[in-house]
Amino acid sequence: MSGGSAELVAIGSELLGPARADTNGSFLTRRLGEAGIAVRFRTIVGDTPADLEDVLRNALRRSQVVIATGGLGPTIDDLTREAAAAVLDLPLDEDPSILRDLEDRYRKRGLVMPPQNRRQAQVPRGAEVIPNPHGSAPGLALRHVGRLLVLLPGVPLEMRTMFDASVGPMLPASGMRFATRILKIAALTESEVDHRLDPVARSAAPVEWTILAAPGQVEIHLRERVPDGGGSPGIDRIDRQCAAILGDHLFGRDEETLEEIVGGRLLARKESVATAESLTGGLIAARLSSIAGASGWLAGGMVCYGEAAKTGLGGVAADLIAAHGAVSAPVAEALAAGARATLRTTWGVSATGYAGPDSGPEGPPGTVFVAIAGTSVRRHAALRLPGDRAAIRKRAAQSALDLLRRAILGGDRA
Ligand code: ATP
Ligand code: MG
Repeated sequence: MSGGSAELVAIGSELLGPARADTNGSFLTRRLGEAGIAVRFRTIVGDTPADLEDVLRNALRRSQVVIATGGLGPTIDDLTREAAAAVLDLPLDEDPSILRDLEDRYRKRGLVMPPQNRRQAQVPRGAEVIPNPHGSAPGLALRHVGRLLVLLPGVPLEMRTMFDASVGPMLPASGMRFATRILKIAALTESEVDHRLDPVARSAAPVEWTILAAPGQVEIHLRERVPDGGGSPGIDRIDRQCAAILGDHLFGRDEETLEEIVGGRLLARKESVATAESLTGGLIAARLSSIAGASGWLAGGMVCYGEAAKTGLGGVAADLIAAHGAVSAPVAEALAAGARATLRTTWGVSATGYAGPDSGPEGPPGTVFVAIAGTSVRRHAALRLPGDRAAIRKRAAQSALDLLRRAILGGDRA
């Protein structure tokens, strides 16, 4: 495979526990992808010499590029250098210029270098030394029968700086990159999306296809290896096929969010919105107001949690609540209409329901009604949302925003 395949090794016993995540791996995966190199394995290994050697040996057997981070420091548990030398059967030599740099760093701070730091000047014979502008431990690059083994410090800032300055240029030139795209889908479950897009997924290759569920939305992650500087025709083809099948369920791509899309449409149409929220307690308004420039189209919102707030603030008739219950389609629509009337906006949007864990008179947790109101249109969605309290609230806000988005896009005259 041109450009080769890469393997990442995160070294450090702390990374095996719950306290520290291997963020270096995410960074390196992204950078290698940009260079057209696929990461096929990522291993986390503790500071045990035998394990470390085992992992490095395996990595060098099956991958052309191996990048290990961590364990280059001066302490007794920093053993990466020694493990790499053992695996490649190379002696360790002391590099006088590294030693001088290390001693200089201490002298400049008015200190004498502790003797154990001398270990950081040890270099497996033949290794290329990678300067570390932000720290003491230099990195090392070793070439071995067509393989490249790079050792970098674990400290994320040091590792990133060194990768960008020195390691990028060492990588096998592939002339390729990975193009990616995320398709975002609302108001369908993962299995519904999976079912509808099955023919597209089956013919996606060579584009990689991954389906991921998040509360209130489903995402299709696409990845295609393409020549540098060119477009991504495979991704474009799949995008068109999905859009044709999903219609307005496909609401955005990559970083786009529902609130951003709603805000953009309202701005373009010189329209405005107000919220009246029960179970979401302001989540809808919080998401809308997170968009820069929201003051141009978001008038405000009300939290109408209890019945008194629904009638007093939300303008819902007490009879309506008595007849249908607070968690009902008519009350959701009345809340949306109330928000719109009180704040004199083009649109009102609302949510009412049971977030749980307790059930209510109108149903179990997850029984939710979201609604929108315009001048001549009122619409609601009756939902049974899964998940715990937090997930139900989040999904309810997402569904309300999606209903609003579709009403606006649908060309509904407010
Ligand atoms: P130093 O010279 O600072 O000792 P080092 O190469 O020995 O560098 P480590 O001691 O292994 O690096 O780690 C230094 C710090 O970087 C620690 O806080 C560690 O948790 C963090 N770190 C190490 N590896 C990773 C990783 N893969 N992702 C995120 N943080 C990491
Ligand atoms: Mg260390």
